[in-house]
Amino acid sequence: TPVIEFRGVGLTYPGPPAVAALHPCDLRIGCGEFVTVVGPSGSGKSTLLNIAGLLDTPTQGTYLLDGIDTKAISASHLAALRGQRVGFVFQAFHLLPHRTAQENVELAMVYQSIARRQRRVRAAAVLERVGLAHRVAALPTQLSGGERQRVAVARALVAEPSLLLCDEPTGNLDSATAAAVLDLLDGLHREGMTVVVITHDPQVAAHGQRTVTIRDGVLTDPGQGRVVV
Ligand code: ADP
Ligand code: ADP
Repeated sequence: TPVIEFRGVGLTYPGPPAVAALHPCDLRIGCGEFVTVVGPSGSGKSTLLNIAGLLDTPTQGTYLLDGIDTKAISASHLAALRGQRVGFVFQAFHLLPHRTAQENVELAMVYQSIARRQRRVRAAAVLERVGLAHRVAALPTQLSGGERQRVAVARALVAEPSLLLCDEPTGNLDSATAAAVLDLLDGLHREGMTVVVITHDPQVAAHGQRTVTIRDGVLTDPGQGRVVV
């Protein structure tokens, strides 16, 4: 079963004027794949990611996440599915400013039935995985950009999602720090995580095993094999 399966999925904002942000498209992303999505600003990349991450509902077609028809389930079930299966990483980190790295990661588990002590243990373990064992007590303002993004990755991973969705994860980082974050994503992929990274940067796109292109809402999927950019 693919993690992501779009069958004629599209999204048109009603407007007026109506905007076809994503034209109906087919897309399959298998378990353990590292796929990058590239396209200019306004081309529909975030729309695709929002649909894949169950933040938005397509206006056309059928989206199956881990084989589950997302149209067939209630809004509360959708939210629960999102919490269990999807981890998000954003360009702007979105960490809570008055919480430590450890607390930011623990809070991602607050709506799951995980005992407090277990949340603490899991948060510490995943922060260690991203190389921040020594920074667990730091506030976001005390962390570098690269460290903040690694906290955000830890937060995205702690619920053990089947899918990691990253929207311009290196957009706020200098190139050396960006390379470290990309190394982390590469490592997670090697460990079996399904990773989707949205970027407008061809160098970042080259990290994917496969690169999907969007232009004016039209998705082009080469199918398989690395696209040389
Ligand atoms: P990207 O992430 O590639 O920059 P988006 O997916 O954010 O592109 O946007 C795709 C298109 O949809 C753009 O034309 C954008 O202006 C439009 N759009 C995005 N969100 C909305 C919205 N809430 N209402 C109407 N149009 C929108
Ligand atoms: P990274 O490679 O993850 O960006 P750096 O080598 O830039 O890390 O930073 C090392 C240390 O310097 C960090 O632990 C952090 O405490 C401090 N630091 C770096 N940049 C900043 C910043 N913009 N604000 C606060 N602290 C910073």
